[in-house]
Amino acid sequence: MKTKIALVVGHRKGAQGAWGNAGVSEWQFNSKLAEEIKDELERRGAPVDVRIFYRDDMPGGYGEKMKRLHKRIDKWGADYSISMHFNAAGKQDVNGHEVLYCSKRGKKVAKVFDAHLDAALNNRDRNILKRGRKDRGGGFLCRGKSVCVLVEPFFAAHQDKFMPGGPMRKALRRAYVRAIEEIAEWNLPY
Ligand SMILES: [Zn+2]
Repeated sequence: MKTKIALVVGHRKGAQGAWGNAGVSEWQFNSKLAEEIKDELERRGAPVDVRIFYRDDMPGGYGEKMKRLHKRIDKWGADYSISMHFNAAGKQDVNGHEVLYCSKRGKKVAKVFDAHLDAALNNRDRNILKRGRKDRGGGFLCRGKSVCVLVEPFFAAHQDKFMPGGPMRKALRRAYVRAIEEIAEWNLPY
């Protein structure tokens, strides 16, 4: 059976998150990257069913938005939800990747993503980080039926390298693709 992967674009059209040094928001950057990851997984014939999810811009606070988002993800029946971001802090000398999780199963998934980011990217490994329900990111990570992680592959001041056509674009896409393929293998009957 195919593993269902929800690629969740961080933030929303009405509040697009951080902006990188290439002048692109998290929401814009990851909308495009999510499409590329989905295409590549399909092209490679990975045993996954991928769907891209966006937060809505309807009224209500953060908690309500997360509730609605997870309701749609659960309705589709995702096994794993991967929230895509990049880190806001903009100092030139800070860069690196980190992966956030909440649950025990999320920790296992976070380790896989972190390992593939370590292998593909040439920035610092900031490791995996646990988040509780009330922490930043926890509203996404600790809700819903799917196993959730939140990926921050680089910092805003280094966005230009990760843009389409930039030197690290392929590596970043590959890290996501390989991590998702590894997770999908857990569900294959051998
Ligand atoms: Zn973000």
